Amino acid sequence: MNEDIYVLIEHLQGEVAEISYIMLAAARDLAQRTSGEVIGVLLGHDAQDLTSTLAADHIIYADHAALAEFTADAYQKTVASLIQENEPSAFLFGNTSIGADVASVLSARLSLPLVSSCVQISNGKLISQICGGKIMAESDLAETTTLVTIIPGGYKAEEGQSEKSPEIKSFNAPALDDLRVTLKKYVEPEAGDVNISKEAILVSIGRGIQTEDNIELAEELAEFLGATVCASRPIVDQGWLPISRMVGKSGQSVKPKLYLALGISGAPEHVEGMAESEMIIAVNMDPNAPIFDIATYGVEFDFFDLIDPLLEQLEEIE
Ligand SMILES: Cc1cc2nc3c(=O)[nH]c(=O)nc-3n(C[C@H](O)[C@H](O)[C@H](O)COP(=O)(O)OP(=O)(O)OC[C@H]3O[C@@H](n4cnc5c(N)ncnc54)[C@H](O)[C@@H]3O)c2cc1C
Repeated sequence: MNEDIYVLIEHLQGEVAEISYIMLAAARDLAQRTSGEVIGVLLGHDAQDLTSTLAADHIIYADHAALAEFTADAYQKTVASLIQENEPSAFLFGNTSIGADVASVLSARLSLPLVSSCVQISNGKLISQICGGKIMAESDLAETTTLVTIIPGGYKAEEGQSEKSPEIKSFNAPALDDLRVTLKKYVEPEAGDVNISKEAILVSIGRGIQTEDNIELAEELAEFLGATVCASRPIVDQGWLPISRMVGKSGQSVKPKLYLALGISGAPEHVEGMAESEMIIAVNMDPNAPIFDIATYGVEFDFFDLIDPLLEQLEEIE
């Protein structure tokens, strides 16, 4: 086994996914522990240009027509072959649909340990946030290649970006002619009334809002701030807001100047979609709510005690 930390670079329709940069930042921390290098692994077809912003010591690039779009089948085979040939110390994947599809199968197929939902590397240990962020678990690298899935929240995407293009080394993909899965077409979600991914200020509500009627309070606040209301999944699951307003893994990724999180706990699936916001202000009664770990400002308060004085103050300013 060598000391290097490999990172599977995720990309979709010609763009590197933010989680790839976050993983490169985490890999840099882990590589200090192993004294190895950070190696980005790019699978694609005519996709070399995607490497220019990646903060890796070098890139291993497998170019193959069957890798032009993600399919679990082709990715699993190629990554398995790379692990068997190079035996890195750790291989990082996004805790995303793509990463989970590849890492979990390879763990079973190659009998390698898998540490999931890792949010940070601390003193060389992998810190995982599990059960919606209610439990923090600490793991160490194993004697064999350790597979790790990374969730956002511990690192900023810019920490994994570089203006210096890394060197590219090619890797020959294994035979990929008997694939059971191929991509037919992308299906874009239906456009909603607003595109929350483009909004500068978002007032986001979670289960702490308690009833559908209380959404009015958030809408009033949003109007004062020139903001748009969005939500965590339980609000959308209840049918209180349309799916176009959902932030997170199953919803939209947003990056506003200000994200005001009201009564949202900060589960990894939610954080995945908003951790890159420029400023996060979280209002939550629970001092241990994981949202406070990523908030720029945290307000440990009952939302319902805060909203009236806040609206009054905003009225005075107007
Ligand atoms: C495969 C999968 C995909 C998922 N995708 C998404 C996704 O895309 N987006 C998403 O959001 N979730 C997603 N989830 C769900 C996610 O795991 C969490 O369950 C969800 O984010 C929790 O929403 P919440 O924070 O609103 O609710 P809770 O976790 O119940 O948190 C409510 C918070 O409100 C606080 N609170 C209560 N009352 C008040 C008050 N009066 N004032 C202030 N604070 C108060 C509480 O302290 C608590 O922290 C997904 C889950 C799975 C398994």
